[in-house]
Amino acid sequence: MSAVLFRNGLVLTMDDTHTVHPAADVLVVDDRIAEIGPGLTAPEGATEIDASGGIVMPGMIDTHRHMWQTAMRGYGADWTLTQYFVWYYLESGKHFRPEDIHAGNVLAALEALDAGVTTTVDWSHGLQTTQHADAAVDALQSVPGRFVLAYGNIQQGPWQWSASPEFRDFVNRRIRPGDDMLGFQMAFDVTGDPAFPEKAAFEVARELGVPVTTHAGVWGATNDDGIRLMHEHGFMTPSTIYVHAATLTHDSYHRIAATGGSVSVSTESEQSAGQGYPPTWQLRDHDIPVSLSMDTSVWWSGDLFSAMRSTLGADRSREHMEAHGRADTVTHVHLRAEQVVDWATRGGAKALGLDGKIGSLEVGKKADVVLLKNDHSPVMFPILNAYGHVAFQAQRADVHTVLVNGRVVKRDGRLVDVDLAGARAAVERTVEHLVGVMGEEAWQRGMNPDVPETKVLDNPYTYTEWDAGSAQWKHGGND
Ligand SMILES: [Zn+2]
Repeated sequence: MSAVLFRNGLVLTMDDTHTVHPAADVLVVDDRIAEIGPGLTAPEGATEIDASGGIVMPGMIDTHRHMWQTAMRGYGADWTLTQYFVWYYLESGKHFRPEDIHAGNVLAALEALDAGVTTTVDWSHGLQTTQHADAAVDALQSVPGRFVLAYGNIQQGPWQWSASPEFRDFVNRRIRPGDDMLGFQMAFDVTGDPAFPEKAAFEVARELGVPVTTHAGVWGATNDDGIRLMHEHGFMTPSTIYVHAATLTHDSYHRIAATGGSVSVSTESEQSAGQGYPPTWQLRDHDIPVSLSMDTSVWWSGDLFSAMRSTLGADRSREHMEAHGRADTVTHVHLRAEQVVDWATRGGAKALGLDGKIGSLEVGKKADVVLLKNDHSPVMFPILNAYGHVAFQAQRADVHTVLVNGRVVKRDGRLVDVDLAGARAAVERTVEHLVGVMGEEAWQRGMNPDVPETKVLDNPYTYTEWDAGSAQWKHGGND
């Protein structure tokens, strides 16, 4: 038996009634939460962690992340979705070898754990061969986090790769139904082609009994037609995850709500890349369940603090803007910090069908636990509004301790038992390989897209000269 006891923390359980314990202990025995309450007795040999001055909360859950792309961290910071598509889908995504998928996945997995993200959906659409898929799974299984492999391949139609015997063989070899450390989904997009060629892939998913995750409502790429086709053919289910769902009409939102699916909102992505306005302001109206995601580290980081923060900002920004358009003033915002903390934890668990096991701190659930505490930070006190503190104040560096399935994977602000040097060397080899096949010039060009022409507007208040004698500006131009 192994036991970990968090002592005297502010506990956000995220249970059904969002119970908050201002000062309580959380006892973990083996892989489960055994007890929550004040003054618990430590079992013999338990690891005790002083949580005073900190917040104990469930591990966060990212429902859509292209982990393989982490090898190119930050490369596309100035991209739009168009540049992303050209780079990965058309020109250079095919250069990734199985070892490159492995390198990106390991780094992304470590980054997630470091940020208190205990479960990540690896939206793995660079799987050109099943050797790539084996590499993806090898990487995920080498890091002690909880993952869901969402299998995809942008180099082929989903009706092609999902029908191949190699894919079936991979699923048989590597995926175990009911394994809560490595789940499985199929990841592909529906273009809206009236012939609906994706039907065959949905049938494979149905036969295998696995959920489909799909980029839906993405400006210029997927739209209402895809949703309608899925709905008319009976492929919209409660386990379907619609990523972004930012550019859709009410009709599509009604179809999603009525069939019980959920939306994975990647606010930072939608804001920069252009899938559409981050949709939580619409999803709230339609009562569609929400989870949060970071999409890809080719632009953004893999921490859900950023997701919570940007989602609150985008939703409130929209609410104010709409009100001002009606010459109205918002006096009370609808979206609360408590809600985005729920989306970052429980919302993800529900979306993945894992709500019975993870997503909240409740006795009997799997122990995915995060302690936010940093005695060296001026930002970690006073903690007056715990949800607000998580959403707007805390950061990755404040993630003190992380447990996944009862195992300590981060302690005192440092990842435990990880080969960061190995991860670094692998990613360096991948970058070297990519620069080598593309050529240095193309590599640099890809990172630095042209800036569109802009003109600074004429300013009617422009002066030309400061007259020190009179201590006044002199007018320029036409006087
Ligand atoms: Zn995506």
